[in-house]
Amino acid sequence: MLMIKNIRNRINNNHLNIRKSTDISKSFIKHISRNLSISEHEEIIREEIETDVLIVGGGPGGLATAIKLQQLSQKHNKQLDITIVEKGSEIGSHIISGNCFETHALSDLIPNWKEKGAPIETEVKKDKFLILTKNGSFSIPEFLLPDGIHNRGNYIISLSQLCRWLGKEAEELGVNIFTGFAGNDLFYDDEKKIVQGIITNDFGIAKDGKKKASFQPGNVIKSKITVLAEGCRGSLTERAIEKFNLRSHPQHYGIGLKEVWEVPENHPHFFPGLVQHTVAWPLDIKTYGGSFMYHMKPNIIHLGFVVGLDYANPHLNPYEEFQKFKTHKDVRKYLEGARCIEYGSRCLNEGGYYSIPKLSFPGGVLVGDSAGFLNVSKIKGTHNAITSGILAAETIFEEICLKENTNYGQNLNKYEEKIRKSKINEELFLSRNFQGGFSKNLFFGLIHGFFTSLIKGKEFWEFKSKKSDSQYYNKASNSKKIEYPKHDGVLTFDLLENLARSGTNHDHDQPSHLRIKKDKLDSPMKSYKEYAAPEERFCPAKVYEFVKDDKDQPKLQINAQNCLHCKCCSIKMVDEYIDWNVPQGGEGPKYNLM
Ligand SMILES: Cc1cc2nc3c(=O)[nH]c(=O)nc-3n(C[C@H](O)[C@H](O)[C@H](O)COP(=O)(O)OP(=O)(O)OC[C@H]3O[C@@H](n4cnc5c(N)ncnc54)[C@H](O)[C@@H]3O)c2cc1C
Ligand code: SF4
Repeated sequence: MLMIKNIRNRINNNHLNIRKSTDISKSFIKHISRNLSISEHEEIIREEIETDVLIVGGGPGGLATAIKLQQLSQKHNKQLDITIVEKGSEIGSHIISGNCFETHALSDLIPNWKEKGAPIETEVKKDKFLILTKNGSFSIPEFLLPDGIHNRGNYIISLSQLCRWLGKEAEELGVNIFTGFAGNDLFYDDEKKIVQGIITNDFGIAKDGKKKASFQPGNVIKSKITVLAEGCRGSLTERAIEKFNLRSHPQHYGIGLKEVWEVPENHPHFFPGLVQHTVAWPLDIKTYGGSFMYHMKPNIIHLGFVVGLDYANPHLNPYEEFQKFKTHKDVRKYLEGARCIEYGSRCLNEGGYYSIPKLSFPGGVLVGDSAGFLNVSKIKGTHNAITSGILAAETIFEEICLKENTNYGQNLNKYEEKIRKSKINEELFLSRNFQGGFSKNLFFGLIHGFFTSLIKGKEFWEFKSKKSDSQYYNKASNSKKIEYPKHDGVLTFDLLENLARSGTNHDHDQPSHLRIKKDKLDSPMKSYKEYAAPEERFCPAKVYEFVKDDKDQPKLQINAQNCLHCKCCSIKMVDEYIDWNVPQGGEGPKYNLM
């Protein structure tokens, strides 16, 4: 109910065009009903909102698109309705990142961000890169590090805080921001084969699919251009990619786990501006991954661990690798006396240049991590998300406002051209074989990364993998079991204890947003029998558990209410058996400093 009230208030303020969707063609109505797991025969009347440009996702990519569009329309004295929908309860609440930030893209967008008080205060002062062994470490001197890994001139920030600030900037410019609204499906015209916006999620459907007293139907948000800025492995993005056949090479991913620690005053090892990256221990040399640690003023340590999802051993547990990593002497000294205040997890794109899909489709474009612009050699994607948002906005503005082309279903190929000529393309091309080098092993990856950086990406070879990450598992019977140490509750934590620090929450009485695909109903048992149920270990929120049924047989239980929206299960599940949908808007994690 609150959702609808919110939207009505905003609509009155912003003079958006609203009408009942009874005049939408019958085929649309059927399409909507089908996608909401309510009875096929039950017709849902939805309110329809019209906007010129709809942006799905209020991360750096989506916010940059909105800000740039509004700046351009004000400069040229044009009227443009720009709307962002964000599934988090507020901007920033679903944002999780490192974050060591390259500011140049933000300077392109808002040149006076410093004067305007952007929350960017801690300049990088020291850059350490360690190869960890069980009992020690080797430091790689700064001059030997590939160009991209240097961080001097960058800033240590909380990306969720920066997004909150960008959200306010966007609102001040007149952008409509609807938080607590999850894009549930594309609003697709079957006849014209174009996207005309999205349908937001319904509110108040019970677990059994029946409407509760609190039922409020989702809205149709109709738009000339739909910008998908959902971040890594967005659910609508995946649908658009499949529908329009945008992908020619699989995307690869890593899972990032993160804790935020608060250190007491005068901590002997706290040094604002310190950046430390590590590779190797506790991972073996065949598993791609490593850690980051960023010290931020006044007293915050951002600590994270990333594991490439092309790992082969189904017994590996990324969360436990992270906990074990903290016990290393070169890590624990920073945390002694400090307090863990937040925990979270999110996947990131690692495929880079080779995995970028076609970037536009009839009626929309992909920006930021939805497109896969993260540069894995730097573990940085924020600057590219912002730059792609700027370029998308420029293209949209040229078409809609300057050429006055207000047709639905436009294919903005010019955006693709702009990206190909941009810094994004340049840096992703230079590091195109970086991840492929590490898929051989750690030492090959390090030497190869150094060498290709020396020759400035002029290598003639291509390391491409045609397999998706879910296809890398070895059978459990051929894989070494891994024992992890017990948690002490001070430095290392049980998962459920840590999960409470994410603030995640979902109404229990709603259809699960994690559904087993209809053609993959046998895959959970295959996962259990042949691969020892890796979903019990890779999920950073203990959502998947095999429990015994009343005949003492194992069955899969999905604790969807714990979900952190990291998207790992949509990537790494055996046979990719999970269909990831958005839950009711406003639910999920409540990150503050992530
Ligand atoms: C562990 C980790 C460490 C990282 N470290 C760094 C770093 O140090 N430096 C750096 O530059 N980059 C780093 N990155 C990458 C960086 O965070 C991303 O590149 C950047 O956040 C991408 O921005 P985006 O706007 O494309 O997507 P996101 O930041 O993911 O934002 C997407 C937004 O869309 C919303 N959304 C998604 N789907 C829907 C939907 N269907 N309906 C409504 N809303 C939706 C989400 O809730 C979210 O708010 C890191 C990433 C991770 C995971
Ligand atoms: S259920 Fe999936 S998306 Fe949710 S936390 Fe677990 S792995 Fe991540």
